[in-house]
Amino acid sequence: SPGAARLKELDREHHLHPFTDFKALGEEGSRIIVDAEGVYIQDADGHRILDGMAGLWCVNLGYGRQELVDAASEQLTQLPYYNNFFKTTHPPAVELAETLCRLAPAHMNRVFFTGSGSEANDTVLRMVRRYWALKGQPEKQWIIGRENGYHGSTVAGMSLGGMAPMHEQGGPCVPGITHIRQPYWFGEGRDQTPEAFGRACAEALEARIQELGSDKVAAFIAEPVQGAGGAIIPPDSYWPAIKEVLERHQILLVVDEVICGFGRLGEWFGSVHYDLKPDLMPIAKGLSSGYLPIGGVLVGDRVAETLIDEGGEFYHGFTYSGHPVCAAVALKNLELMQAEGVVERVRDDLGPYLATRWKSLESHPLIGEARSLGLIGALEIVADKDSGKRFDKSLAVGNLCRDICFETGLVMRSVGDTMVISPPLVISHDEIDELVRLAREALDETLRRLTA
Ligand code: PLP
Repeated sequence: SPGAARLKELDREHHLHPFTDFKALGEEGSRIIVDAEGVYIQDADGHRILDGMAGLWCVNLGYGRQELVDAASEQLTQLPYYNNFFKTTHPPAVELAETLCRLAPAHMNRVFFTGSGSEANDTVLRMVRRYWALKGQPEKQWIIGRENGYHGSTVAGMSLGGMAPMHEQGGPCVPGITHIRQPYWFGEGRDQTPEAFGRACAEALEARIQELGSDKVAAFIAEPVQGAGGAIIPPDSYWPAIKEVLERHQILLVVDEVICGFGRLGEWFGSVHYDLKPDLMPIAKGLSSGYLPIGGVLVGDRVAETLIDEGGEFYHGFTYSGHPVCAAVALKNLELMQAEGVVERVRDDLGPYLATRWKSLESHPLIGEARSLGLIGALEIVADKDSGKRFDKSLAVGNLCRDICFETGLVMRSVGDTMVISPPLVISHDEIDELVRLAREALDETLRRLTA
């Protein structure tokens, strides 16, 4: 393979990366990651970096797990491909379906496989509208999502999501989708207590339903904790109040578990942590610890029964729905997570351990809030700690801090001036200490450059 410098040149000339501003690539070009082990990645220049993001919130079991490599290799040898169309299937898809339904909340007993989280949300959109059509209420078309929610990059995924810059590019969005405010207390609610703000967000849902007419609203879609929006952990009052509104109006609940599923919040699903009873749960990412692409939609009994009993054939599916090699790796991943008690360790040990260490960063002059739940966390960078005033947008402080983190040896993601972490679920106490130390060093350096 060519050396690092040549790879960077070729990358600049030929490779269009997702979510990258090419004009802003700068002299140094892209970072080229060549190797990884445990919670560390290594770039082509030999730097070892603690991956505080588990790739894209997905490498839950960490890097270098030979068992997952063996599972892929054995399945590639046995049956590298077959599909699940037209009444055919294969052992890995069936076994994975059974395992997932066993781990999911008790009322979820079916799964539809996809290749990604975005495809899972495309599937959700079609299933929701089809469900209401089969129930004889085809006018129930509206889907309510949330500002800054992220549900993928396909047209349906980005339409369900509430990321304004995505809506502005390559639209129009899918019609019949609207967004309400996010339960982002630090950013939008500090004139109230968190509890009052959580209830106010549920009132916003109620108001939107009234506006649209409850007989026109099909579903509400949300992440348990908003990930790409900035690791937004809702106030405790939020989910109970949202649930009450949806139940009263008979509106389906779609809980996007693409990030929160598979242990991130210390339970198998975020829905378990928040005691939700979703009708549909899109999943992906941690399902295979990111080793191979696979996603799906877990379907609750009331939707599944209608689709099956009254729906006939569902004209929907992907060539790689339940791909045997991806399914075999996902199955092994879930097997290892169960055998090693990974989810319980996040809940009982690593989550509480991170919480105290992470909170200590609130003493830093740049930090207005440090929050975490399980192994997801955020730091709010502010210009003034008392008022919570932000730095001028033109300074792009979050991106500056993210780049300094890389130099310091840590991957943190920036969402505006919110820094986010979501490390592998196999991180040790010592590695958590290192993560927090590196984050503090990067903040010190960010402050130094801002005041230089
Ligand atoms: N849903 C959520 C909550 C996500 O965070 C993501 C990706 O980050 C997606 C859906 C889309 O998943 P994918 O990138 O696999 O299409």
